[in-house]
Amino acid sequence: MAKIIDGKEIAKKLRSAVSEQAAILKEQSVIPGLAVILVGDDPASEIYVRNKERAAKKVGVHAVTFKYPSTATEKEILDKVAELNADDTIDAILVQSPVPSQINEQKVQEAIIPSKDVDGFHPENVGRLYANQAGYYPIANTPRGIMTMLQHEKIDLLNKHAVVIGRSILVGRPMFALLQAADTSVTLLHRYTPAALRRELLATADVVVVATGVPDLVMGADLKPGAVVIDVGINRLPNNKLVGDVNFGTAEKVASAITPVPGGVGPMTIATLLQTTVELAAEHHQIELEQGWQNI
Ligand code: NAD
Repeated sequence: MAKIIDGKEIAKKLRSAVSEQAAILKEQSVIPGLAVILVGDDPASEIYVRNKERAAKKVGVHAVTFKYPSTATEKEILDKVAELNADDTIDAILVQSPVPSQINEQKVQEAIIPSKDVDGFHPENVGRLYANQAGYYPIANTPRGIMTMLQHEKIDLLNKHAVVIGRSILVGRPMFALLQAADTSVTLLHRYTPAALRRELLATADVVVVATGVPDLVMGADLKPGAVVIDVGINRLPNNKLVGDVNFGTAEKVASAITPVPGGVGPMTIATLLQTTVELAAEHHQIELEQGWQNI
């Protein structure tokens, strides 16, 4: 039976390391500031934003949410971004996805200055990640949180084969970049990958990351025995049960380690967002932080 990777517990350790870093900044009168722009009244987004605010407060990050009705114009949002870009008390800006169709999400993301782009979506930051550049730049929080988990679990990535399923800008693509930067050989699959090819590749995968939003896309029988399985998917079934993209019951019998849904990747995403916010604040104020979370 696979080891269950406890995302809640690892996220707790990460949050505590982030609090310590925030305390170091506070000694120098710096309070990291996170601005969240929320447009419309999507109930799931409201819950996410509330959770982010609550978690931020606990670690000493000042989070402010700017709420706009679903009728807000693109100009209103771009104006707000420009104001926040210039605001010295704000170190990190995020626009909660999705936004209503009259607003071009890509345009809004590109308007955020790269040094406050806490989601790592700005083309400049995406380019740095893909070029595997040295130096500090923000990286998408979900895949970064997954790398922290793999590190915490001491999963050896060198000379391994990883299969990433899903190629979104949010998860799959940055995951691909981070794994290859860790000297893993990575294969990136997506909705047009034939099922037979997916199975063939999965049978050789030491690490599997699934981020598709398709329940049961990966079954235990698809896995190489001993594989490490990271399930990013969050799907609500008609019976209201929350499941990932991997069939947990069959996969845990074959894998050596697996993340549950809920309680796996999800908690790491928010903790990593706070980690990135604190790092951006340190960068803005040119304060050196010890990388304490390397050892969580
Ligand atoms: P997305 O819809 O932007 O992208 C889905 C990707 O899956 C696409 O690249 C698509 O090509 C691929 N895909 C779809 N059907 C497929 C199939 N049958 N076979 C192979 N590939 C297929 O989604 P996203 O934003 O990347 O999110 C993916 C899932 O992860 C969702 O369930 C989302 O809720 C969840 N998610 C969780 C967290 C977290 O913190 N746990 C964060 C982000 C996303």
